[in-house]
Parts: sequence; structure tokens; C-alpha cells
Amino acid sequence: MGTLALHGGTPVRPTLLPYARQSVSEEDIAAVNAVLRSGWWTTGPKVAEFEQAFAAATQAKEAVAVSNGTAALHVALYGAGITAGDEVIVPPMTFAATANAAAFLGARPVFADCDPSTLLLSPAEAEKKITKKTKAIIAVDYAGQPCDYAALRAIAQKHNLILAADACHALGGFSEGKPVGSLADLSTFSFHPVKPLATGEGGMVTTNDARIAERMRRFRNHCMTTDHRERQEKGSWFYEVTDLGYNYRLTDIQCALGQSQLKRVPTWTKRRQAIARMYDQAFATMEGLAPLHVREQVEHAYHLYVVQLNLERLTANRNEIFQALRAENIGVNVHYIPVHLHPYYRKTFGTSEGLCPVAEQAFERIISLPIFAAMTDQDTDDVIEAVKKVLSHYAK
Ligand SMILES: *Cc1c(COP(=O)(O)O)cnc(C)c1O
Repeated sequence: MGTLALHGGTPVRPTLLPYARQSVSEEDIAAVNAVLRSGWWTTGPKVAEFEQAFAAATQAKEAVAVSNGTAALHVALYGAGITAGDEVIVPPMTFAATANAAAFLGARPVFADCDPSTLLLSPAEAEKKITKKTKAIIAVDYAGQPCDYAALRAIAQKHNLILAADACHALGGFSEGKPVGSLADLSTFSFHPVKPLATGEGGMVTTNDARIAERMRRFRNHCMTTDHRERQEKGSWFYEVTDLGYNYRLTDIQCALGQSQLKRVPTWTKRRQAIARMYDQAFATMEGLAPLHVREQVEHAYHLYVVQLNLERLTANRNEIFQALRAENIGVNVHYIPVHLHPYYRKTFGTSEGLCPVAEQAFERIISLPIFAAMTDQDTDDVIEAVKKVLSHYAK
């Protein structure tokens, strides 16, 4: 297939294909412009409109908009009453914010290992980590695949725990016929430009619990008893601060963009699923790699398309394959370094190698290939061609 670009050959593509990228329409731009021309830039009517549309789309009773996905996790755990000294069970194969959210509240993140075929939190491993101090489990819909919520809900009920879903990858996915956002007590979303819906920065928490939703709305606004709009409507200046809260508000400008984007989520999900099917087909007969297993009865949202390299069949390691694919102008990425191996976790919580062997071994082999709704069939073919070129070069 020719010399690798890494060794001076011609790259498969002339320009870099990123691993993810937002889509924007004229309708999105018009929605933002309308808010810019209106008087309300924040804490205005667009916040409730976006929240209601998002709740409807995810079949949740309540949706609370916040400034980013990290804030969504913090707000969700506060809403659930997590406090200093509590333990929160989290998987290691996630972005650090999942575990950080417990630490923000003085709670201890406790790592439970993943299932080796999906890299999703293993319900059995999670149950093993439950102690008297455990208050919540955060499951992460890694890559966009919903976790085994039936098993996780049963464990949470048995031990009287809150079940939260970090669904930052999974907007648009379904499990057992129900949309992501309705599968746990609390579900969190991110609207960063690489995620399935983008508002620049942004986040959301969904829940069916009106009392928790109320706590979360206060917490995102300094735990004040009224917000700016409520005071304006009542002609009142009075408010009190009832607890230590934050400014985690999402602006009306962003909410208008989010509401406009939300309409296209089903179409985008279908497109990413179609790209994933093209990858699945192309890679089915290749010995150097294997896509992650997809569970039955789920509709995977494919925020990421993660493959595991079969290192026994290759003469190169993951980092060398990564460099070779980048040289071909394929914007591959790695999700994630297991969270318990980050220096902050080692020094603060005493975590180290051996704590989650499944995630640690998977980490040596994983690579994320580009996948986003605006990718063309030609882009997809370029990725497949580059993967074939690189893996055949390094085949044992
Ligand atoms: C993106 C992401 C977050 C954090 O979201 P931000 O909007 O970047 O703060 C948290 N968890 C997971 C799994 C994510 O992918």
C-alpha cells in the first residue's frame, strides 16, 4: 500500500481529519442572533425553553441547564446530597471530571473496574466496592454506549444508593427502548464542541425528581432563594444565600443554540451509527484490531469509535500506531488514561497500578478513530484505508 507517511511516504489525506467536530446550520445562527437582539442574554426565557425541550427529548421530567459537563456532574452529586466523607463509585475509563465531581464535595471517588469487552463499568465490580460510606454510583456511557442500567439499578436499589449516569458521550442513545437521560436517577451531559450536541461550553442534568431538580437549580445560582428573572418579575430585590453554591448558569445565547441543535440529534446519531457500521464491516476481517463489543438491546450513540489493537499480531505498540495514523492525517485520539493513574489521584487517594487491571490493560491497546455527523463517506474510506495501510505495515 505504499510507504507510510511517517517514513516519508504520501499521506492518505492531504489535510487532517479531526476525531470529532460540531455541526452548525443557518437556523442555529439565526436562533443565536435572535437572542443577541433580545434583551435577555442570561437567566431569561431560553433557559426554560431549552430545558423543557431537552427533558422531552430524553423522556425525563426535569432538565437543569448548567455551564458545562463538569458542572453538571458537580450539580448532580450536590443535588443527590453527596457530602464530605461519602464514597462514590466510578469507573476508571472516563474523563477525570467524573471522579473529580465527588472530590469537589469532599467525597472519595472509589474506582470499580470495567467489563473487558465494552469498557463500561462492570456492575459486579461496582457491587464489590460498596461500603457503609457508599452513597452513589456514577456509570459512564463510555464512547456513547449505554451501560447495563437494569443491573446497576437493581444494585442501587438493594443498597439504597443514588445511580447517576455520566451520559456526556451518549445523548441520542437508547437502552431497552428508553432514551439516555431517563435510565438513571440523574444523567449528565456536556455540550462541548466535540460532543453529540454543542453550545461552545454547556451542560445539562436530567432527573425525574422535582426536589433534586430544585436543589440543582439553586446550586447553579449561588444557592440563592430567587434568580434575577424571578426578582425582576416580582419587582423585588430580596434574596438569601442558603448554602455554598456556584455560578454554573448557561446563557440564553447558548440555550438558543442548544435548542436549535437538539432537533438534529436523531439525524446526527443515525449518521454516526452508519459510519460505525462501515467501520465494523471493514474491520471484521482484520486481525490487527477489534472494535469494542456492543451490548444487545442498546442503540449506541457513537460519540467515539474505539478499537482495541491486537498487539500480539503487531510489531508496533499503540503509540507508534497512533503516530503513524496521525502522519496519514487521521486525527486519532486516546480515550482515556485510567483516571486512578493520574498524579492527583495517586497523591490524594493513594491509587496506583493494579487497582483496575482491565482498564489498565485496555489502555495500552485503545485508539479512537474519527467519527462525527458531518464526516463524508470519503472521509470514512480514508480512515479505513489509513488503518489498513498502517496495520499491514506493522503486521507480524
Ligand atoms: C466531556 C466530558 C465531561 C466534561 O464535560 P465538559 O463540558 O468538558 O466539562 C465529563 N465526562 C465525560 C465522560 C466527558 O466526555
